Parts: sequence; C-alpha cells; structure tokens
Amino acid sequence: MGTRHPFGLTLGSLGTTPNWPHLGMPLMVLAWLATLSSTTIGTRIWYEAGSVLRMLEGYITLPSRPKEDGWLWLPAPNGHVSVKLAYRVVKNLQGNLDSDSKWRFVWGAKMHNRLKFFWWKILSYNLLTKERLITIFPGMDTLCPMCSLAIESSLHLFWECEYARAIWFGCSWQMRTSTTSFSSWDDWLKWFSIPQNRLGWIMCNSDISIGKTQSAGAVIFRQEDNKIVKIVTFLSNYCDPLPGELQAICEGAASARLLGYKNVIFFSDSAAAVDSIRNARSNLSKLHHNLRDLITNLVEAASALSNWETHWTPRQHNGVAHALARWANRNNHFGVFDLADFDGSL
Ligand SMILES: [Zn+2]
Repeated sequence: MGTRHPFGLTLGSLGTTPNWPHLGMPLMVLAWLATLSSTTIGTRIWYEAGSVLRMLEGYITLPSRPKEDGWLWLPAPNGHVSVKLAYRVVKNLQGNLDSDSKWRFVWGAKMHNRLKFFWWKILSYNLLTKERLITIFPGMDTLCPMCSLAIESSLHLFWECEYARAIWFGCSWQMRTSTTSFSSWDDWLKWFSIPQNRLGWIMCNSDISIGKTQSAGAVIFRQEDNKIVKIVTFLSNYCDPLPGELQAICEGAASARLLGYKNVIFFSDSAAAVDSIRNARSNLSKLHHNLRDLITNLVEAASALSNWETHWTPRQHNGVAHALARWANRNNHFGVFDLADFDGSL
C-alpha cells in the first residue's frame, strides 16, 4: 500500500476512515513504522515519504479490515481504467467544459447524422466559407453571394443573412433572427439550447364591440398554424373606438403575460391604435391624454414578454375577434376560454 504511481495508488480499498481516537494515526501504518522505520532501504523500495505522510495525515483512507491490495485509477470515480479517461488525462481535458456540452448537444440531437456532421463543421469553424477561404486565396471576393451585404461567414450565412432569416421565420418555430445578436456560434448555441427561445410566436387578434348600453372586447390567441389556443373576453367602459381598440390590445398583453406566452404579435384592425402605440414608443407626451394611460399599461404588461410587436390587419382578417366581441357583448360572457368550451351557438 502507498506506492505512488503517475495515475494510481495501491491501496487495500477505499473504505471508511478507521477510528483511532487514542492513537491519532492508523494502526497499520504504526505497525509498519515499528518494523520498517529503522530499515531505510526498505522504506525507499516500498514507500515514498510523501505517501507515508498522506497515510498518517488521513488523506489516504485505509480499510477498516485487512484486505488485499489492488490498483485504482484515480481519475475515475469508480477506480476503473478506460481508454476514454486516459485520453482525457493525457489531453488535460476537464469535465463539464462548455466545449463538451457543445458537442454533446450536437451529437445527441435528434437529427440525421449528415446534419450532425454539418453542424460539427459549422461549430468547429471548419466550414469553408469565403471568410475562411480568403486566408488560402488572398484577394478573393468575400461578400455573401446571397445578399452581397456582409462577409460570408457561417454565422452570417445561416443566421444573419436576410435569406436565412426568411427561412428561420418560415420554419415551424417562426424564429425572428433579427431580434437576436450573436458574436459566435457558441453564444448562439447557448441561446438556442434554452427551450423558451425556440418557442414560436403567438398571434393575438383583438377587437372591441361597442353596443348601445355597454361595450365588450375579445382577444384571440392562435399559434403559427392558426390553431386557436385561448380566447379572452372582457367588459369595456369605452364607447369610443380608438380607446376601446387600445384597451383590447392591452387586455391581450396582460392575458399573454398571465398565460406565459413569450413572443407575441398583436394584430388590430384599427390603424389609429397601432400607429399610436408605435408613436408612443418614441414620444408618449405627444399622445392624447385619454390614450396615454392605456398605452402605458400596454407597455408595462408587454414588458414581461420576450418579444412583441403590433401590426395592423384588415378588418376581414380580424373577423373572428370581431364576432367574439359581439357575442360576448350580447351574451354577457366574460373571462378566459378554451376553444373546446364553445358550443355551436357561436
Ligand atoms: Zn447574406
């Protein structure tokens, strides 16, 4: 026991540290000292001074019962040697490094091996884009062949280029790459690895119905595939269209926050409402005082969202929200509904 080795130590076994309260050091070591300490040749042959010290100081635990010595591979928690671990020791690689998680993410992803290989080339910066080729062929054109607006790096080609943006937005995640900014693929991968960042956009249509005695509004949340996921109806105090429409967008933002949506596009068929929100982002004080509070509330509610936008939509594209607002106003049905809650009367 106790012979040092570049990678391992011989020990009886790694058991619990024995209790030697009255002696303060292991009995086995004491016994060895008694028999061998006078024999310096034996000490040099079988033990190192450092190993003996570590045993005495308790850094090396001894088995509570005598046991046959064996080899342990110290870099491995279980003591068993493996080629993989030996490689890591020789290359001085630490566990849980960012680079490790990067490759685990790529090689463990559920995609075709051909794509994994492609991603490996991108993430290891081995893809021969013009940015790389210029180092081999000086003087060559380095502009992106798609947009001619930037150097053709892999990050530009597959994320930043407007052609790439169109593809990312067209995919099922409906990603808006313009809302992000990365200096490297490593940064991108950290961002992309967070599931919330891959959630698509929720569309929110809203409208107000102004009746003779009361007003009511409706908000409809739908996914990218146009499937309606939630409906919110509410009673309104406004009898003017513009503040009513703004209130409907406000209700949409507040509901989106409560429902945990992250990326929301608010659609309204009131161009005046959409314009006033856009103008308010640059100068709130220019707005009519009736609208200021509404827009302040909207911005406050929407601040909990990761990304949000407001867009005007033609009235015929907002027909479901319009019909729901009228339905809620007629029937006094207000609250949050799943589509399954509605019967054929709607
Ligand atoms: Zn480009």
